[in-house]
Amino acid sequence: MFIMIGAGSGHRKKAYLGVRICPHCGKLSHFYLMEQAQQVSLFFAPVVRWGKHWGIACSRCKAGFEIEDTEKDFCLKQAQWMPSEKQMNEVIEYIGVQLQAGGGLDNETLRERVRLRFDFHVDDRSFEEIVKALRQAAQRESQFRQFY
Ligand SMILES: [Zn+2]
Repeated sequence: MFIMIGAGSGHRKKAYLGVRICPHCGKLSHFYLMEQAQQVSLFFAPVVRWGKHWGIACSRCKAGFEIEDTEKDFCLKQAQWMPSEKQMNEVIEYIGVQLQAGGGLDNETLRERVRLRFDFHVDDRSFEEIVKALRQAAQRESQFRQFY
């Protein structure tokens, strides 16, 4: 019989942590609590895992940093209230449209509209980072003109 065994380090997305402007790639990105471990796989399915450690990473550029076990527990607690990545994308799109329609919108009005529009809770940090990134992008765009 032919058996495929693999060994190496593997990682898993354990919980969705919301949206941040990534310090590494500079983009508005979804962040995840990641579990990394050494593993042995049988037919590509991990059968033994050891030496687990935890990190928070950008899903766009995969950069991140390691965290302690206690921080991991805090992240897992936070993640319980987090909408899904797909829902958060809807929020990003919605805020983008709102900002385009009325450039002078203040954050409080925008926050209220998001609250009314979606039946899930958007955490304040994600909201602020989304608005910041979209405003920056809009401003950059408005500065663009025929340069030469
Ligand atoms: Zn990144």
